[in-house]
Amino acid sequence: MNNQEEKNVNTEIEEDEGDLIEGERQPPFQTPKGVHDILPVDHEYYTFIKKIIRHRCRQAGFRRITTPAFEYTEVFKRNLGEITDVVTKEMYTFLDKKGRSLTLRPEGTAGVVRAFIQHGMSESPQPVALYYIEPFFRYERPQAGRYRQFWQFGFELMGESDAALDAQSILLAYRIFQDLGIADTLKLQLNNIGDLNSREIYAQALKDYFCGKERYLSEEDKIRLKKNPLRILDSKHEDTIILNQSAPIFKDFVSPESVAYHEKVKEYLTDLGLEFIENKNLVRGFDYYNQTVFEFWDEKKQGQNSLGGGGKFDGLVELMGGQPTPAIGFAMGLDRVIAQMKRNKIRVPSKDYLHVFVAQLGQEAKKVCLPLIDQLRENGVKTMGALGKGAIKYQLRIADKFKVPYCVLIGLTEVREGKAIIRDMRVGTQVTVPFDKVVPEIIKRIGKIDLDYYDPKSPV
Ligand code: AMP
Repeated sequence: MNNQEEKNVNTEIEEDEGDLIEGERQPPFQTPKGVHDILPVDHEYYTFIKKIIRHRCRQAGFRRITTPAFEYTEVFKRNLGEITDVVTKEMYTFLDKKGRSLTLRPEGTAGVVRAFIQHGMSESPQPVALYYIEPFFRYERPQAGRYRQFWQFGFELMGESDAALDAQSILLAYRIFQDLGIADTLKLQLNNIGDLNSREIYAQALKDYFCGKERYLSEEDKIRLKKNPLRILDSKHEDTIILNQSAPIFKDFVSPESVAYHEKVKEYLTDLGLEFIENKNLVRGFDYYNQTVFEFWDEKKQGQNSLGGGGKFDGLVELMGGQPTPAIGFAMGLDRVIAQMKRNKIRVPSKDYLHVFVAQLGQEAKKVCLPLIDQLRENGVKTMGALGKGAIKYQLRIADKFKVPYCVLIGLTEVREGKAIIRDMRVGTQVTVPFDKVVPEIIKRIGKIDLDYYDPKSPV
């Protein structure tokens, strides 16, 4: 792993990042806090990951969707849960020039559901299976694995409810982790948080329980109690924690249907050979979830150890103005996935290397070089050249820096004789060939299999 690679995604972002270290000269412009560039070395990971995602999703009948990077604020504010951390503290919200409130998307599901309704997808064959690979934005306290702009791959299956679909969704996520070489490092956490009806009955029971005890609650907990009583169970307030110990327990409110549904999901997962840990404390960060919820954790890792999670959101389409539409979805954090792959020394194929450097001497030679470079590239030979005015020796030094295996050299004599020199840079030998033999000779040497050739007419 080179330095650049280590510095990028894996970097621990310090609170005072951006401050000058005494004596050190920094470029005048830096990335804002909590965001990072994706340099070419990391793009090799992104390219690899996207390829796997594309294949796995296509095999399972998913099609790609891209929603805008920002939506009207209400899309998130009303539908993720008004008192969730993301909505209360983490959204990048701004007014446009006409005073409309817009928000950079903090997650993918609300935008996809908005698109599902807006484009009448309830008329399409169900379930509608969509996936996305996009950047998301949350104003969080930056640290390793937690950024203010981060990438997620996610999918949503809308229009069907079946425990078998839950199992299939979990399996799809697992297969992708497996293809990426990190499934063994992750443990699947599984829970059922009940159906919407039992959650409502339970919420009312919590409200009744806290009725008359409001004076012990913090302001924040009073709001929680009013807007989403289930959130009061996460309270960090000392008095609330004590009161929570005697509060009604959700288990007593879960409907027999939910219990049966959960049993089915577990049965299917077991049949598929997928190991899981039943985690009764697992709740997801947004209010739209119900029934099955799941996450993939690296249990050995401290801090940001969830690489992806999802669950059912049967009420969201209706909440956002559509027809009642059961649904399930999943999202995986790609920045964390890449960091995990690096920790596990997973190498990805790199195609970003050159085959040939074309060096020339003099204006006449340069003219001959340009169509030759074009021909080489047209045939899938990765070529750079016709650079600089320096001596051949100087150009060979450039070629060396790019670590090309072959150089094509054209000087005045070669132009006059209609020939070119092919130099094997690894052993230092060279041959002279007629001009029209350069491309076939190079292809023979690098081998057809390594050509970077793409036929736009062939299926992707
Ligand atoms: P969530 O739906 O919030 O659980 O997000 C799904 C996945 O996205 C998480 O499991 C993480 O892998 C990733 N993720 C969420 N927030 C961030 C962040 N601020 N920075 C990097 N990755 C994140």
